Amino acid sequence: MSTPPVRKQLPRHVEPRKLVTQGASLSGNAPTAEMTRLADAVISMDEGAQVELQFFRDQEGHATVEGKVGLEIALQCQRCLQPVHKTLAGELHLGIAWDEERAEKLPERLEPWIVDTDVADLFTMVEDELLLALPIVAYHDEDQCPGTTSYSTGQFEDTAENPFGILAQLKTRQ
Ligand SMILES: [Zn+2]
Repeated sequence: MSTPPVRKQLPRHVEPRKLVTQGASLSGNAPTAEMTRLADAVISMDEGAQVELQFFRDQEGHATVEGKVGLEIALQCQRCLQPVHKTLAGELHLGIAWDEERAEKLPERLEPWIVDTDVADLFTMVEDELLLALPIVAYHDEDQCPGTTSYSTGQFEDTAENPFGILAQLKTRQ
């Protein structure tokens, strides 16, 4: 039996500009226990989001973060109202900016990440990215949705009832 690899937890507080200067890569888990905005939007979620980040200065000199966030969640299926399990996956292309004014000057390909001090909360940024990756509505696949099954069972019962209905009528006639 193999045990799953223990994933390293990401640091919560990082210095993004220093990481850019270092050309740093970070990967690991971001715990979701305090991601209350995300918790409000889902039925349940994994304890940790998987995060891969690369910090670098792009060719135009913008302090940039690229990477991926992923999280197993359950949402409410809008057909049957039961939980439906989904993998949230987001790709990020962030430009680090000191304030709104400078954020507006970033090229469109970069989403602003406003960091107005040296230190930023990485988990909040990850939560923002996961919220952006949330689908607006969620459904089971049709062949796995109890809502679909009960609907087609209903149809089946309708057609199945007819012969009995006819038999009953015949019996009454006898
Ligand atoms: Zn469903």
